Amino acid sequence: MSARPSERAGRTTGSHGHGDGSAAGPAHAAPHRLRHAPSQPARAKQLRRHNLALVLGEVAAGGRPTRAQVAARTGLTKATVSTLVDALAAHGLVLEGDPDRGLVGRPGLPLVLDPGGPAGLGVEVNVDYVSACVVDLTGTVRTARLVPCDNRHLERLAVLDAAARVARRCAAEARRAGLTVAGVGIALPGLVGLDGILHRAPNLPGWDGLDVAPALAPLLEALSPVVASDNEANLAALAERWYGGDPSNRDFVHVSGEIGVGAGIVVGGALWRGARGLGGELGHVTVAPGGDRCGCGARGCLEQLAGQEAILRAAGVSVRAATALGTPDGSVQELLRRARVGDQRTLAALARAGTALGVALAGLVNVVDVPVVVLGGLYAELAPWLADPVRAELEARVVGFAWSPTELRVSRLGGHAAVRGAAGAVVQAILADPAGSYPAMLDAS
Ligand SMILES: [Zn+2]
Repeated sequence: MSARPSERAGRTTGSHGHGDGSAAGPAHAAPHRLRHAPSQPARAKQLRRHNLALVLGEVAAGGRPTRAQVAARTGLTKATVSTLVDALAAHGLVLEGDPDRGLVGRPGLPLVLDPGGPAGLGVEVNVDYVSACVVDLTGTVRTARLVPCDNRHLERLAVLDAAARVARRCAAEARRAGLTVAGVGIALPGLVGLDGILHRAPNLPGWDGLDVAPALAPLLEALSPVVASDNEANLAALAERWYGGDPSNRDFVHVSGEIGVGAGIVVGGALWRGARGLGGELGHVTVAPGGDRCGCGARGCLEQLAGQEAILRAAGVSVRAATALGTPDGSVQELLRRARVGDQRTLAALARAGTALGVALAGLVNVVDVPVVVLGGLYAELAPWLADPVRAELEARVVGFAWSPTELRVSRLGGHAAVRGAAGAVVQAILADPAGSYPAMLDAS
């Protein structure tokens, strides 16, 4: 089973204004809470758990706050903040930096996330490569490796073994740098349910129905628990949320075209998954009823007009669908070369793909009302040619565009976004609930 990565929650609710461990008395509790009132120690632990996350969240938000500033921002007492910071520091989550220069009087020490603290290991299995990376608490990629291999023609176990090998090498490098890998996240090219099962992987024969986390875990040789197993498009969208360079970007759709077309919908800072975890399948939104038959069985799906194979075919480039990472000298490079020299057939293919992509995105924006669309993966590379037709369709079709234009951005994370998101899911889970990962924090006084 796999826990799902999620955004920090509950920072705006709960116990602001109360000291840690000094909960409001029973007089403030609702009658039904009185009848089932948990023991005082349990309440105190609950409160401490909440406040640990609250304080860590303030540090993670950046700006190098001092203990006093964290107290002012959270409403906790300075003494409580100090106790909590000590617990977080003892587990390697926060560090006190050198005092900032230029301050009058005796400045407090600035608090930062500990880059030497627990780290997340991301593993990605894609169609033509396996890769891994280690991300520290600050979000910095500390080590990354990629091994090209044509997984379409390899036995499943051989692919899992290759993925585990690259993961173990990254973990060993991280250990040599003094890091502790706290968990593993896995990015997969297919439909992953909330149960973590890879229900459908169109380009990985024999993988449908596989619960990848327990299949991979034994090969990792007890590295650390697998805490997240998810679709690559979802993890790429989360990477954009966490590492895309704009923390205020909390509502957007990230669309990444690699071999298929996948979207990740982020609303209120959290990934919107749908009831079964299968949300965001933009590639199978109909844009041309009666159009070409899609691998999913339907006709006229977006993927048949704006997926990589469709673009290559329309451009007259030999169709050997591959990722830009796994096959850097493949058809995608030829497509880019022809686009750069202004090959008319290629430009027409890209314009057609951009229009189809814009039509589908406009429909999605009209339904979920997100103000930003981010082009990622292959679409980021093709953005010089796709952006105009996509923007034209958004402008023509999004309700409210006239007074609140949908912003089109291009991701700077490149093809590594998904594996970075997989690693990031591990550290984000720690940041969201540090005591959930380190229960001993609740015992300290
Ligand atoms: Zn389809």
